[in-house]
Amino acid sequence: MFRKCGHADAFFEIDDADFVVIGLPFDSTTSFRSGSRDGPDAVRLASYGFESYDYHYDVDLADLKICDLGNMELGSDPRIAWETIKEGLSLLSDGVIPILLGGEHSIAPPAVEHLAEQGGVGVLVLDAHLDLRDEYGSTRFSHACASRRILEIDGLQGYASIGIRSGSREEFDYAREMDLCFYTSNDVREMGIDYVLDCAMKRLKCERIYLSLDMDVLDPAYAPAVGNPEPYGLTSWDVRRAFERIAPKAVALDINEITPAYDLGETALLGASLVREFIAAKAKASQKS
Ligand code: MN
Ligand code: MN
Repeated sequence: MFRKCGHADAFFEIDDADFVVIGLPFDSTTSFRSGSRDGPDAVRLASYGFESYDYHYDVDLADLKICDLGNMELGSDPRIAWETIKEGLSLLSDGVIPILLGGEHSIAPPAVEHLAEQGGVGVLVLDAHLDLRDEYGSTRFSHACASRRILEIDGLQGYASIGIRSGSREEFDYAREMDLCFYTSNDVREMGIDYVLDCAMKRLKCERIYLSLDMDVLDPAYAPAVGNPEPYGLTSWDVRRAFERIAPKAVALDINEITPAYDLGETALLGASLVREFIAAKAKASQKS
């Protein structure tokens, strides 16, 4: 009669789960549109719009061990939020797949650091922005520094980003000096997402991948409700294909930068659908192995 609030099909407790949904409603370094703190609950609400059965993977999410732990209390200081996120993730047993719902992109580096402490990890970022600033808005923990902070993490085995179309001259100079692996949205349009993924995977060269989706990688036509929208982005089909191919190797997922107040729910709906895509693709791959 009563349905537990949380993500759809999340019927399990933490100790029995294979996938753990965690909301990280942190947005205090936001630089343009604020409100990504409402992202986690908007994605959860949208998750009830779908069937539990996924015909493409022949997987029923209701048969999988999914837990929703709720939202972490992260306050407004990004340094404290970083420590809190790491502390929260340390409660998960090895092998459990965290599905982190942001919040802004600054929730990703502490999560990567946690995963890197468990064993080498490579990071694939889907983002319109390079996020390579060393500091922004008087803090090194800004969402505009997310990839820069990820690159400093010990145990990082590889890094690639896809969908790039925005950054300062200094960020692009830094990326080229460091020989960073990044592909623009023009590259995806010209060469196709599969070719770009092939190239990125070659550069990543690792078996454990952390997948970080900044929703603004999508064109605003598909995902208008983000903090820093950038036209000429990826399609929902491109991102879905990336999830299908990366999920089998992924040890964690985050979906960040959804600011629900800026649309009629389309962006959270796509985010929720991508969570399902990730879980179903990962579960299907585990069944086969
Ligand atoms: Mn970002
Ligand atoms: Mn971005």
